[in-house]
Amino acid sequence: SGETQKEFIMALERTLSIIKPDATKRNLTGKINAKFEDAGLRIVAQKRIQLTLAQAGQFYAEHKERPFFGELTEFMVSEPVVVQVLEGEGAILKNREVMGATNPANADEGTIRKEFALSVGENSVHGSDSPEAAAREISFFFSGLELVG
Ligand code: GDP
Ligand code: MG
Repeated sequence: SGETQKEFIMALERTLSIIKPDATKRNLTGKINAKFEDAGLRIVAQKRIQLTLAQAGQFYAEHKERPFFGELTEFMVSEPVVVQVLEGEGAILKNREVMGATNPANADEGTIRKEFALSVGENSVHGSDSPEAAAREISFFFSGLELVG
């Protein structure tokens, strides 16, 4: 029905993902991308970049008063990262599920962080946590021209 079609279209989301330095360093980009694709998430944009400390600080500005902020931003510039836009139905929440809990000790079996994360800090992936964050974080790294659905 028309209603069903509308709900499908409204649920199609995009979210910002980052494959973090601990994972790019261990050559895990492909294995992590397979997790996204197996979950029905489509990689509609992707690039490997080296962040500056200023960029990492701006991206994680919400955490700047946290005790781990320095450690987090230094980590994020320690190796290249792969920034990507994932698209799918309910992509924001779905990606958070595929990622697993922030601390890999608390992550569910089969999640990226359970399989690959080294610690609460070096936890292999970032994913937007809300529609507002997704919009801000996607535009932080990508222009409209780079998003090919
Ligand atoms: P996320 O949304 O699951 O990535 O978690 P948060 O938004 O709470 O934290 C952002 C990132 O900061 C995490 O993914 C970790 O890389 C890092 N982080 C969070 N908590 C800690 C901590 O207690 N110690 C350290 N070293 N890093 C942390
Ligand atoms: Mg977060």
